[in-house]
Amino acid sequence: MHSNNTPEEVIIIGGGPAGSASAMNLLRHGFQPVIIEAEHFPRFHIGESLTTECVDALNRLGLDGKLQALAAPQKKGVRIFSHHPENSFYVGAGDAWQVERAPFDNMMLDEAIQRGAKHITGQAVNIERNKGLWHISIQTNKAKALLKSRFVIDATGQQRFTQKQGLWGQLNAGDYAHQMAFFGQFENIKHQDIDMHDTLIFHRKKHEWVWMIPLNEKVTSVGLVVPVEDFKKSKLSMTDFLEDNIRSFSQPLEQRAHNMKRVNDVRAISNYSFSIDEYCRDGLFCVGDSHRFIDPIFSFGVQFSVVEAEYVSKAMLECSQCDESEWSSIHETYMQITTQAQDVIQDMLSYFWKHPWGFANMAHQKYANEFLEIFAGRIYEKEAGKGLTHMRRVLDEQ
Ligand SMILES: Cc1cc2nc3c(=O)[nH]c(=O)nc-3n(C[C@H](O)[C@H](O)[C@H](O)COP(=O)(O)OP(=O)(O)OC[C@H]3O[C@@H](n4cnc5c(N)ncnc54)[C@H](O)[C@@H]3O)c2cc1C
Repeated sequence: MHSNNTPEEVIIIGGGPAGSASAMNLLRHGFQPVIIEAEHFPRFHIGESLTTECVDALNRLGLDGKLQALAAPQKKGVRIFSHHPENSFYVGAGDAWQVERAPFDNMMLDEAIQRGAKHITGQAVNIERNKGLWHISIQTNKAKALLKSRFVIDATGQQRFTQKQGLWGQLNAGDYAHQMAFFGQFENIKHQDIDMHDTLIFHRKKHEWVWMIPLNEKVTSVGLVVPVEDFKKSKLSMTDFLEDNIRSFSQPLEQRAHNMKRVNDVRAISNYSFSIDEYCRDGLFCVGDSHRFIDPIFSFGVQFSVVEAEYVSKAMLECSQCDESEWSSIHETYMQITTQAQDVIQDMLSYFWKHPWGFANMAHQKYANEFLEIFAGRIYEKEAGKGLTHMRRVLDEQ
C-alpha cells in the first residue's frame, strides 16, 4: 500500500457538484484540497434543473463563462400542471439554467483541478481516526493508497460513504423513501411557446408526478416518480412502465408527449429519500446528498450541494484558525444553517402534497413574493415568512 506520510490539507471524497464546489471554495480560502473520485468523468447523473440561488452560487465561484459555454437552455420558471386545473400554477425562476449533468459535472471537476485541487481517480474504501488525523484507504485501479488529513469532506452523494462506514447514527428514512423514479431522454416533445423554457411538473394522485426538463432544442429529460409498489404490481419492464405511464398520465402531458421518441436507455433510482441527524465531527463534514436528500420535485439537490460547499469551506477556515476544543460549535453552526434550509423545502413539500389547492393559491396570490423567493432557493439564514409559518402551523395541527 502506498502511504503518503505528509497529511493532506483537506481530503474531499466525491467529485460531484458538492465535492468540486467545496474544492473551489476551499482553494479561495487558501487550502490545497485533494479530491478522490471513483468514476471517470464525464459520467451520467440525473438532476438537470437548477435553481436561481444555485446559479448564483456558481457565479460567486466565477463560473458564469463556463456555464455559458455549456450552451445550456435558460430556465425561466417552474410550471405545475395538476389533474385539477385550479391547482395548477407557475412560479418564475429568475436567472437559472437546465443542464445536462455529464458535461456540467465534468466542467465543475475540471475547473476545480485547473484551479489547483489535486485529483485521484479511486474509491475510498475505509476511514478511521487516529491521533487527530483521519486516515482514508483508497482503492485505485493499480494499487491501494492511504491518505491522512485533519479535515475531510464526504461528498459521496447517495453512496453515503461515511454513513455506511458507521460514523453517524442511524439513517432516517425520508418522507419519500418509498418512491421510485424512472427517466430517459426524449425527442419530439411538443413544447408550447409559453413553457418552452420552463421545468414542467405534472401531478395526478398524491406522490405521482412527471417532470419534463428541456436539455437542448431537440432533447428533453422526462422522468416519472411513483410509489415503488405501483411498478412492482405492473410487472412491466422499466421502459414500458415509463412510456405507458407518460402516455396515459394526464391531458396536458399527453398533449406534449404523444409523438415522443426515446433517445437513450431508461434508468431508475429508488431509496433516495433519507437523512442523518449528525453529519459533522472532528473536522469531518458531510456536504450535499451524502447527509440528506428529500425529494427531487422542485429541483433543490444541486443547490444544496453547491451552497453547503460555501458554508463548509467557511467552517473549515474557522476550524483551522482555532483550537480543536472549539470545533464542536463550528460543526453545530454548519449543521444548524444547512438543516434549517433543508427543512424549509421539506415542509413546503409536505404542504404541497397535503393541500395542493392551498399551495397553488399561496404561490399565485396570497404569498406570491415569498414563494418566488423560496422557489429561487433564498432559504438560508432567513426568518420564516408568513407563508411558511402558515404552512407549518397547518402541518402541526394535523
Ligand atoms: C430522480 C432524481 C431527480 C433529480 N432531479 C434534480 C434536479 O432536477 N435538480 C437538482 O438540482 N437536483 C436534482 N436531483 C438531485 C441531484 O441529482 C443531487 O442532489 C446532486 O447530484 C447531489 O450532488 P452531490 O455532489 O452531493 O452528489 P453526486 O452528484 O451524486 O456526486 C457524488 C460523487 O461521489 C462519488 N463517490 C461516491 N462514493 C465514492 C467513494 N467511496 N469514493 C470516491 N468517490 C465516490 C460518485 O462517483 C459521484 O461522482 C435529483 C435526484 C433524483 C434522485
